[in-house]
Amino acid sequence: MGRTLSILGSTGSIGRQSLDVARSCGHQVVAITVQRSVALAEEQAREFHPQMVAVTDPQAAADLRLRLADTDIRVVSGPEGLLEAASIPQADTVVTAVVGIAGLEPTLAAIDSGKRIALANKETLVCAGELVMDRAARMGVDIVPVDSEHSAIFQCLQGCHSHGEVKRLILTASGGPFYGKSRQELSQVTRDQALKHPNWVMGAKITIDSATLMNKGLEFIEAMRLYDMPADQINIAVHRESIVHSLVEFQDGAMLAQLGTADMRLPIQYALTWPERTAGPATALDLFSCPPLTFARPDPDTFRCLGLAMECARRGGTSTAILNGANEAAVALFLEGRISFLDIAALVEQALERVPAQGVYTLDDVREADRAAREAVYQSLA
Ligand code: MG
Repeated sequence: MGRTLSILGSTGSIGRQSLDVARSCGHQVVAITVQRSVALAEEQAREFHPQMVAVTDPQAAADLRLRLADTDIRVVSGPEGLLEAASIPQADTVVTAVVGIAGLEPTLAAIDSGKRIALANKETLVCAGELVMDRAARMGVDIVPVDSEHSAIFQCLQGCHSHGEVKRLILTASGGPFYGKSRQELSQVTRDQALKHPNWVMGAKITIDSATLMNKGLEFIEAMRLYDMPADQINIAVHRESIVHSLVEFQDGAMLAQLGTADMRLPIQYALTWPERTAGPATALDLFSCPPLTFARPDPDTFRCLGLAMECARRGGTSTAILNGANEAAVALFLEGRISFLDIAALVEQALERVPAQGVYTLDDVREADRAAREAVYQSLA
């Protein structure tokens, strides 16, 4: 079934792969949004002919408007442009591939407009999971995960008749580039080493999150929200081969897994075609060339970010928004070369100590927790 897509964050890794899927499966693209990558945005706009392109940076928007002056594609700028693209009437599906809490409000706008959400922004559910899931349920909107682990669980749950049949969810983790290293060794790692993921090619923020294992911590919280499961019914298994993308164990002891290559185009495509499956561009798995599959327990003490995220998952309220805000600020500082690798977890931990967690009742509670967490990170630095 052909879909009409609005792709938020079309020049990032997930955005580009979503366009690959649209190209090979014949989905129509009616809107794209970018932060400031105008050259690639122009190329995408000329190939896919969306009705609008939203560019967050006003100067970049002016540049793109000139570049596309010979077309009838509308270029809008600023954060309102992102909201307009999220609720554009011609789209039936919104791919939320914006990085960080910046994805929250556009996701809510898309839900309010009744779109299917192909969710590729985990920070939205981490920060405001209850609000987002409630609003989606009220609007009768489907949130279909794009994150490979959550897509795997979603696929394993097809045919499951009731929530009570599920005993636990098992999220697999590649372990990232520093698996097996001691804290002493981690204190020496550089930005370039942290940016080299062994199995997946992704954007900078998520690659650093994968190296600290914060990514798995955020995914743990994302899984709780998406599948309405308590923390003690979710486990993490380190699986270095990234072939089993996650598993579900049922009450009778049966365990279902989804296997595939490390190709994000498959979960992206499934989020668009669900409940149907079609041929697509993803590379198929060759069982006979697979390495042996291994599973191990994670080490949340050495990889402190994972431990902190799991504590916040249990605590609930705004603690997960504080965790996320502090992590976004700390990762940006690490990418700028201003703090060391182990400082990321240390700054997040300090922010969690300084900013008191409260209940989440409105979006403002989430915004305030995010702001206070970032401020706490900058204060610790000063
Ligand atoms: Mg993932």
